[in-house]
Amino acid sequence: MRRFFFDPKSRSGDTVLLSEEESRHIVRVLRLPVGHEIELLDGQGTVYRAVIAAIDRRVAACLGAVVAAHLGGGRTVRVGQGILKGEKMDTVVQKCTELGVTRLSPFQSSRCQGKADPSQNRKRHERWQRIGLASCKQCLRPQPMQLDGPVPLAGVVEEEAGSGILRLLFWEEEKAVRLQDIPALAAAPAVTLLLGPEGGFSREEVDLARAHGWRTVSLGERILRAETATLT
Ligand code: SAH
Repeated sequence: MRRFFFDPKSRSGDTVLLSEEESRHIVRVLRLPVGHEIELLDGQGTVYRAVIAAIDRRVAACLGAVVAAHLGGGRTVRVGQGILKGEKMDTVVQKCTELGVTRLSPFQSSRCQGKADPSQNRKRHERWQRIGLASCKQCLRPQPMQLDGPVPLAGVVEEEAGSGILRLLFWEEEKAVRLQDIPALAAAPAVTLLLGPEGGFSREEVDLARAHGWRTVSLGERILRAETATLT
């Protein structure tokens, strides 16, 4: 069954008004008629059966029974990703959504290719959000991945210092510590993983992270492409 997101604020009784974007998808792309059964996700973990009630610029739907509710509570996994070029970043957003990453925080660092440009950043962020939502629908993930706007690396490195969250920075020059050497990982309720852009992290960036309590970890002796490392 086709799935769409709705904003719980647009709900009045059992009726919800879908966004213009979701409405366009229903009306122009899929050409679904009034009376068609769909599933609606509230973005907070609840999935409803629903029926298309009226077609307009914003489609109205009538909510029925709850078919699934996932209210979270499991382990949270946050990934800090050095911004990658073009479609590689799209891939990371899509795959992280499928794999259940809770939050993705793209960051700008010294070896990112291309300059940080605020107007470009907003557009990219919107694009990644669209990709994340499309991926949620495809993989039947009821809660969207939280997707932050691009920030400088220092912001991510410093943000959780002292929080008790297990923070791992993946670094190809780390020769001693592998994931299996971190026993706390198995039971940690929250982990944050940091992965560099194509050019990797500079020594200074690794030192800054270590100074803020990050542990450096190896993914093995081969140097993986950035997107391969993240998915691994
Ligand atoms: N600086 C290197 C490779 C960067 S790979 C170069 O240009 O040759 C991009 C990112 O993938 C790295 O920043 C790191 O986070 C991750 N990565 C790749 N291979 C890894 C490995 N063997 N162990 C840990 N992290 C790795």
